[in-house]
Amino acid sequence: RIVMLNGAFVDAADAKISIMDRGFLFADGIYEVSAVLNGRTIDNAPHLARLDRSLKEIDIPNPYSTEEWIGFQNELIARNGLTEGTVYIEVTRGVAEREFTYADDLAPTVVMFTQPKSIVASKLAETGAKVVTVPDLRWARRDIKSVALLPQVLAKQAAARAGAQEAWMVDEDGFVTEGASSSAFIVTHDGKLVTRPFTRTVLPGVTRLAITALIAETGLVLEERAFTVTEAQAAQEAFFTSASTFVAPVASLNGTPIGPGKPGPVATKLREIYIQKALAA
Ligand code: PLP
Repeated sequence: RIVMLNGAFVDAADAKISIMDRGFLFADGIYEVSAVLNGRTIDNAPHLARLDRSLKEIDIPNPYSTEEWIGFQNELIARNGLTEGTVYIEVTRGVAEREFTYADDLAPTVVMFTQPKSIVASKLAETGAKVVTVPDLRWARRDIKSVALLPQVLAKQAAARAGAQEAWMVDEDGFVTEGASSSAFIVTHDGKLVTRPFTRTVLPGVTRLAITALIAETGLVLEERAFTVTEAQAAQEAFFTSASTFVAPVASLNGTPIGPGKPGPVATKLREIYIQKALAA
């Protein structure tokens, strides 16, 4: 496998990072993941815009222009012969003596790699995902795509142990914030789609934004507000969105079937339209 390290394409086995890298010592870095279909990135512009925003929010200079990032992504996709999957970017503040404060002139560390994954033909989309809830233990700036992912690691592992494929994180007031690696939606009995507004409490999901645009185009009604676990369990349908799953229907939440306990028509339709548009783009 060929990866990108600080602008060079090298074999994964030869890509080495210092133990003094601040990404390793402090999780002082951010990341981004774009989906790849037919060898082409999907919704890539907003992913690169969010990468730039995350960097700005934590005061790391963006080492490359948008065109340069796209060049690296395409080169990596081509070199690895990737047709369907994801392309990952991570930028850390760089290497320095271990000290909390940092110098302004550090050179960021950049790592990129691809991962093959079947996103369109997916078991999750056929059966619907089992989801369990966990307390949202993350920091107060969840809008930054930080590599400090320990709460999500614990959440996903708890989900897997419970036989579930995703964890929905719940704030102190009992409201769902989002999935451990996805944006959360419910469909009410009167056909409205409900998802949390973009504030500092959630990551501004690129796929969520694309889906809310589709909702408007298809004449469905969107309500941007928080919802509780109880409301979700009693909903008509539920689903979650991310670059690596597109639209994934939810079959059950904490063991309670949602609607008929299988993928619902709204989630299925939005998934179809999103994939069609992605393939046609
Ligand atoms: N929310 C969180 C916490 C995530 O980690 C992710 C993706 O990894 C998402 C939402 C979905 O975002 P996107 O659609 O941009 O992949």
